[in-house]
Amino acid sequence: MTFNELNIIPEILKALSKENYTEPTPIQEQAIPAVLEGRDLLGCAQTGTGKTAAFAVPIIQLLSEQQSKTNAVRRIRSLILTPTRELALQISDNIKAYSQYTDIRCSAIVGGVSQKVQERALNHGADIIIATPGRLIDLLSQKRIDLQYVQILVLDEADRMLDMGFINDVKKIVSKMPSKKQTLFFSATMPPEISKMVKSILVNPVKVEI
Ligand code: AMP
Repeated sequence: MTFNELNIIPEILKALSKENYTEPTPIQEQAIPAVLEGRDLLGCAQTGTGKTAAFAVPIIQLLSEQQSKTNAVRRIRSLILTPTRELALQISDNIKAYSQYTDIRCSAIVGGVSQKVQERALNHGADIIIATPGRLIDLLSQKRIDLQYVQILVLDEADRMLDMGFINDVKKIVSKMPSKKQTLFFSATMPPEISKMVKSILVNPVKVEI
């Protein structure tokens, strides 16, 4: 299987080839077509499997195809929630690499850096936000960020967000987004609290296990 056979747009193919990705990993092979079709996804996969590109590549593609059609104002159309600052910055770097030949912009919202700097980046406009729950809750409660245009939500390492005590923050953030959206949910384990969340958020998801 090649990325070409997954119907990836040339702008992203060029970036993947620059990263020396010659073929998709198993999770990418399963997840990319499902996400491009607009399906919800439930992924049981660890970091190291190519999970980031499995969700990032189709998100960049869906948003960039939309953009070329509408030419509308730049709004946050995808939100990626992840438990730690390190993961958020890593995902942000990956998305920047994969989207470098498209018009998609992303920005990371994490604790431990100046909120002013992040607000400035937000004011410049971002299509994709990668955030840790704590800092995002701060910005939401100060009404500095608008999630009403989010179409694709990623919950990455949901079980770790639960362990770190973020579950109520995550639920609050989800409540600030339109209920009609595509959700990609990743968790290495499925404790009862996580299964409950999966049932309440995902609609007829494609299941991907690695
Ligand atoms: P992840 O599981 O997303 O953290 O990815 C693990 C590592 O694999 C990262 O360093 C990626 O850059 C790399 N990677 C992801 N997809 C591919 C691929 N299709 N071919 C080669 N390397 C990849």
